[in-house]
Amino acid sequence: MNLNDETVRKAQLKNIARFRRPQLYFLIGFGGALATIAYADHTSNNSFVLFLIAFSLIVFAVISLMRYRCPNCGNLPFAVAGETDQVEARVTAGVALFPAKCKCCGYYLSKRRLKQDSAS
Ligand SMILES: [Zn+2]
Repeated sequence: MNLNDETVRKAQLKNIARFRRPQLYFLIGFGGALATIAYADHTSNNSFVLFLIAFSLIVFAVISLMRYRCPNCGNLPFAVAGETDQVEARVTAGVALFPAKCKCCGYYLSKRRLKQDSAS
């Protein structure tokens, strides 16, 4: 991928821009749910309300996850993806929260990473 090419750079920036909103929603839902659970662990007040908040945030995160995909190829950005010989036996360690690049098509998903690689 030639990042000095203006057309290539524009396509990458467009991909990053389209990925930003679903990523933000997913991080809010996921992070908020974790924060609420951590807080609920330290307090005995309003535990049912906290449970409801955590539950709604988890539902929100799961719904966001459906849109949390590489805009270019539509694949989930996995943190670690390994494949064995069988196509069915696909091993994934988890969803990446701050993916730099799409593992499937190689498109950039992080503006910072794109800037770093353009500079070098
Ligand atoms: Zn992709």
